[in-house]
Amino acid sequence: ADSFDEECDYLFKAVLIGDSAVGKSNLLSRFARDEFHLDSKPTIGVEFAYRNVKVGDKLIKAQIWDTAGQERFRAITSSYYRGALGALLVYDITRRVTFENVRKWLRELRDFGNPDMVVVLVGNKSDLSHSREVKQDEGKDLAEAENLCFMETSALENVNVEEAFLEMINRIHKITS
Ligand code: GDP
Ligand code: MG
Repeated sequence: ADSFDEECDYLFKAVLIGDSAVGKSNLLSRFARDEFHLDSKPTIGVEFAYRNVKVGDKLIKAQIWDTAGQERFRAITSSYYRGALGALLVYDITRRVTFENVRKWLRELRDFGNPDMVVVLVGNKSDLSHSREVKQDEGKDLAEAENLCFMETSALENVNVEEAFLEMINRIHKITS
């Protein structure tokens, strides 16, 4: 184990969900490694990344799981959700159908997830404002109705990515400590 593991106070699992190609993998690579990729490269098997985050005087190791493209076939299994304390539920502001599917994802979270899971609704690709199909207020209203946090992000321009993950991690920490 490296020194981070030894000093870590908590380990949290969180998951990324949402339709295919909304930018889940790029949000994670931006948060974990500050990288962005123009082509999406579906990988084999479930992958996760870690990032250590300081909250107050505690060091939290966030383990964030990403799908390997199973969402395309609605084939995410219950083991993906098992033990997860948080979720980033992502849609693409330029594709209305991905926003309409948010309710389906919420249902799946209710069926498979921990009932107190912290969910942040994320409207990604805010840099593509010329092809926007979902108004920011629509995201905000849905989040309010469903009792979720909400943020618009751009993984490409690195806008609000850190904020979205940290909001989730901070809330998990508040609930569990
Ligand atoms: P996933 O299937 O949800 O994991 O989506 P990916 O992260 O693979 O991204 C799908 C495509 O959208 C890729 O071509 C990315 O380069 C692109 N993409 C992801 N995030 C953004 C963003 O914030 N802005 C723009 N313009 N493109 C993005
Ligand atoms: Mg992906």
